[in-house]
Formats: sequence, structure tokens, C-alpha cells
Amino acid sequence: MPGFELFGDAERKEVNDVLENGVLMRYGFDGMRHGHWKSKELETQLQHTFKTKHAQLVSSGTAAVTIALASAGVGAGDEVIMPTFTFVASFEAIMALGAIPILVDIDDTLTLDPVAVENAITSKTKAVMVVQMCGSMGNMDALQSICNKHNVLLIEDACQAIGGTYKGKPLGSIGDLGCFSFDFVKTITCGEGGAVITNNETYYLNADHYSDHGHDHIGNDRGAETHPFLGFNYRISELHAAVGLAQIKRLPEFLSLQKKHYSILRDALSTIQEVTFRTVPEGGEESYAFLNFFLPTLEIAQSVSKGFKEHGVDGCFHYYDNNWHYIRKWDHLKDLKSLFPISVEVKEGLAYLKTKEFPQSDHYIGRNISCLIKLSWTEDEVKARASKMVEIIKGIL
Ligand SMILES: *Cc1c(COP(=O)(O)O)cnc(C)c1O
Repeated sequence: MPGFELFGDAERKEVNDVLENGVLMRYGFDGMRHGHWKSKELETQLQHTFKTKHAQLVSSGTAAVTIALASAGVGAGDEVIMPTFTFVASFEAIMALGAIPILVDIDDTLTLDPVAVENAITSKTKAVMVVQMCGSMGNMDALQSICNKHNVLLIEDACQAIGGTYKGKPLGSIGDLGCFSFDFVKTITCGEGGAVITNNETYYLNADHYSDHGHDHIGNDRGAETHPFLGFNYRISELHAAVGLAQIKRLPEFLSLQKKHYSILRDALSTIQEVTFRTVPEGGEESYAFLNFFLPTLEIAQSVSKGFKEHGVDGCFHYYDNNWHYIRKWDHLKDLKSLFPISVEVKEGLAYLKTKEFPQSDHYIGRNISCLIKLSWTEDEVKARASKMVEIIKGIL
């Protein structure tokens, strides 16, 4: 997945453009810039790549999720439905706005189970946030129709699925708003960065203003701009945008490498009868950033994960036992360990997490292994890795 692996001359050239004129900020300083607007150029590229009318570049993927929710008016006391398997950024963003994360089970797509989503909808539900984990996607038609039926927003976190598609549409462009991360380990990187994409002009203008202290960005005198509403600083710098601008032009190259490496590994693992793969919804095409497979039991998955580590097969994760991506290890959320007081609404709204169990999610995450697909591998390296993985798994089964 990581675009940083192929950092090179194109990235250096874009960064040097910025260093030469010295304008590191994305807004203003028109005279000094000699025509270099890296953030604006990258936003235009994002609109083309992800086929949406608007794109707002921001400082991180976490910021993008926060801004997407804020731009659509999600705030204090609102409930946002999200999956048990995701990155901590999902609940961080929801809680930053005073809203309440409602965690629900995943299915074999490794994201939201539509049935669990529908069961979790209440009069307080404002949005459903689907997280397109590990290069693939949820059942978007089913999720969209639930959202339409209950008149709630569909927010798409496509941070881990840059370049995947569903029924011909780029992931991120399907919901009311889509979010991307360009942090250091994502498919394309800015170093740190993110983006919100949408076809809704109001949401876009809200995102543009909100991410820069509420500035209206009218005219060319920053000091004279008004603040139609309160905002925050989630701006990206020109240096970061410059790296992303070089990287997005290389996205087709990155995606084809991912697909090639993924296919070699998948074909090899497919020869083992006990290994099954995550479900990709009909009409979906993965970004191939990860290869996800299931083993018959939790214990076998634990042994395989251990076997991979012992034999130098790096970049494979058993998220059931890992702190990053799964509810089981998020004690800081369950115990509400906050540096500052949390509102009573959020405290009460999250009390369910103290006792709630997610056996259906455990059933999938417990048996799942997720392997990162690297861009820098040679074909021989991928083949050697594939045989080693097969050998380790067969030795355990
Ligand atoms: C990386 C990631 C984020 C957050 O992105 P940052 O840029 O690191 O803040 C959000 N959601 C998911 C699913 C991610 O993988």
C-alpha cells in the first residue's frame, strides 16, 4: 500500500518548486508564488481521479472525517453508526464533535453489516459511517438504501481503499461525503494529509471554510475575509500538497503493482482448501492494498500469525490481537480515558460499550489475517513470499 516506497524525482521536483518560491502556505501570497498552487492543483487532480465535483484538502485523514461530519451538521448528542473494525480515527472524529459513536458488527466484507446498521438506527442517528477497510468495501447499495429509508447521511471513510471502485464509481465518491488519508503509510502520501470529497456544494463550502478557521476565502485580502461560522485549523501545507501532487499522478502505476503482487499471493493461497477470502460485494473491485483471508478457527489464525512473524513474513496482521484496528483492545475508549471532561451525553451514550460484546465481529476478525501489499517487492520476492506463506499455513493446518 505505501506510496512512500517509491518516493523519487517527481516528488522532489514538486517540493523544490515550493521551496524555491518560499510560499509554504496554501492560501494567499499570490505575488510571491510564481504560479505555484500545489494544494489547488492537487484538489483538481482529486476531483478528476475520484469523479466528484469538489475536493477539499486538509491536514490528515482524521481531520477529513471530522470535517466531513461537521460540514454536514453532525454534532452534540447525534449518533453516528460505525464499524467495530476500523481505525481509532473514526471514533476520535465523532467524539471531537460531541457526537456519539455507535459501534456495530461487521460481516465478511470486513465492514458494516447492513442488518446490524438497520438494527442500530434510532431517532438520534444522524449518519452511517462506512469504513472501506483494507482495500475493499461494504455492500454500498444495501447501506445506501438503509440511509435513504431513514433519511440519514452516508459518510465514506475510504482512507484504506484509495483506487478501489464499486459499480464503476471510485470508493469515496459514493456516500454524501468521502474521506481520504494521505498519511505516510497510505497508497498515496503527502507525508501527512487528507481530503474530503463531495458532490454537494454546501458541504464543500462548509468544509473549505471550517478547515481554515471559518474563513470565507472571498477576495484576495486574507485579513478582510469574514467568518460566516466558527471553524478550526485543519489546513495542509504546500510542502505536503506538493508530495501528494507527484504521488497522485503515479496512482495508476501504484494500483497496477498492487494488483500484480496481490494476485500472485492470492493464487498461491487459493491452493489451500481451508483458506477463504473476504467477500467483495458484487460490482466491487478492490484497490489491492491488502490481501485478507480467513482461516478455519481463531487458534489457527493465531498460530499462522505467529508462524509468519517467526519466519520473517512481515506486514501481516492478526487484528484480533492487535491494538490498532479492533474494538477488543480499545480499553481507552471503553473506559473513556480522556484528558479533559467529556460531556454527559457522550458518557451516557457510550456506557453500552462497558458490557456489549460483538460475537459476529469476533467470528470474522478472530479468523482474519490481513497482509499489506508492498509496491517495492520484485516479482521473485513476491513469489518466494507466497511459497513461504503456503508452507507455513500448511504446516499448521
Ligand atoms: C489512516 C486512516 C485514518 C486517519 O488518517 P490520518 O491521516 O492518519 O489521520 C482514518 N481512517 C482509516 C480507516 C485509516 O486507515
